[in-house]
Amino acid sequence: MGLALVRGMAFCYSYRPDKAELNNEPGIIMAYELAPLPYSKDALEPHIDAATMEIHHGKHHAAYVANLNKAVAGNAALENKPLDQLLASLSTVPDNIRTAVRNNGGGHWNHTFFWKLMGPKAGGAPTGALAEDLTATFGSVAGFQEKLEAAGLGRFGSGWAWLVVNRSSKLEIISTPNQDNPIMDGSGLPVLGVDVWEHAYYLKYQNRRADYLKAWWNVVDWSAVAANYAAAKK
Ligand code: MN
Repeated sequence: MGLALVRGMAFCYSYRPDKAELNNEPGIIMAYELAPLPYSKDALEPHIDAATMEIHHGKHHAAYVANLNKAVAGNAALENKPLDQLLASLSTVPDNIRTAVRNNGGGHWNHTFFWKLMGPKAGGAPTGALAEDLTATFGSVAGFQEKLEAAGLGRFGSGWAWLVVNRSSKLEIISTPNQDNPIMDGSGLPVLGVDVWEHAYYLKYQNRRADYLKAWWNVVDWSAVAANYAAAKK
């Protein structure tokens, strides 16, 4: 698949973080903005604790947004680009800000995506086409969950484990380092992704990433995952 088609996939993919028009300070236009969490910070207790959510969203995610805005400030073409398009065309970003855009733009996209995958009164099991295709691809939903956990555990240092629709329109599990994501190299369109940076779990789980990954399924909103799957398959 050529780059144009990969980028085309990203362009028609419906999931996009909200883009700010204007922030509250008069005269200052911020290209990207931190949306509020879609639920209260204690909504994912006891699996994900409120202190972790507060710091994760209010400090870590906020810093990615602030640093992304700093990186693209003054470059109107980049400031006005939807984030998924910006990430799918990193090679066109000027050398001096490319790493900052990659790390912080990736951080912004990944976390915005991540918050929406989770919710209170979630968990359970997927249904419909998603459940059928997970079973066809990975043997069973439990088999998929084991393989995703293994991808997260196998990521040395910081990064993410993803379920994507790949270039062949098949479900695939991949892992990326740092704040990279599958949109950047066109390897797939994310359906689900789990943050395995220590900041996502250290307060409650310390070094026990495996325990965090197992507990995480209790907060996964499968209806959100199914919507991502439907959008990625289009
Ligand atoms: Mn994180």
